[in-house]
Amino acid sequence: MRNMRSFIIVGIFFLFLGGAFIIYFSQTEEKGVFILEYHRINDQDDDEYTITTKEFKEQMEYLREQGYKTISFMDFVRAKKYGEKLPEKSVILTFDDGYEDNYTEVMPILAGYGMKGTVFIISNRVGLEGYLTWEQLKEMQTANIELGGHTANHLPLASLPPQKIDDELRLSKLLMEWNGLQTIYFFSYPNGSYNDTVIKDLRKNGYLTAVTGTPGVNTFATDPYRLQRTYIPRSKLGLLDFKLRLLKSRLYTKFNIRQNII
Ligand SMILES: [Zn+2]
Repeated sequence: MRNMRSFIIVGIFFLFLGGAFIIYFSQTEEKGVFILEYHRINDQDDDEYTITTKEFKEQMEYLREQGYKTISFMDFVRAKKYGEKLPEKSVILTFDDGYEDNYTEVMPILAGYGMKGTVFIISNRVGLEGYLTWEQLKEMQTANIELGGHTANHLPLASLPPQKIDDELRLSKLLMEWNGLQTIYFFSYPNGSYNDTVIKDLRKNGYLTAVTGTPGVNTFATDPYRLQRTYIPRSKLGLLDFKLRLLKSRLYTKFNIRQNII
């Protein structure tokens, strides 16, 4: 009987401790910039990479309620270089692959909230069915959307020979600039695949930052070619999923798990 009672007391103690742990860390604000990773936002496709417009709006409203301000990679780089202050709670919204709904859905939704975003383009897919056109890209760049590179053909870079890596990084950038887009400075690794050769080549070709798929928040001490990013797939539990993904990134940074600090 006594054993039973102490068992229950110990059990309650650990439950309390676990609860306190979760509450503490969900309220701790890690200083730094969140970078969120999206792909498609629309109400037609139904897969992991597509978020419905309703869900996306809920997430944007949550960020706004929590006091987050959207910034661009250019804002981040300039603040780092010139010692400018970023908003207390900053977030960069990124969209990989250059899908057409980034123009039809994302751009107007973000504009409605007074927010900005960054779209990473696969240059050889521009104008193909379901992807953005050069005209749309030009218009986006003059509105609230910053553009970045995501290679020419979306190949896993770490598995390629150096010459092929250079082709993927250099030619895609040139093609975008030749087609009338403003200079491309920012990059996203297809499938999060990179190595030292890739980073060296990015520097050589004038890219200033690159994002990975490793969760975490970013500070000016984070390697600019290995920025931490929070992946946001289609949710199973609604907004709770989104909050847990943000929390996961905070915890990874808090406990220094795979953080790319230099
Ligand atoms: Zn991609």
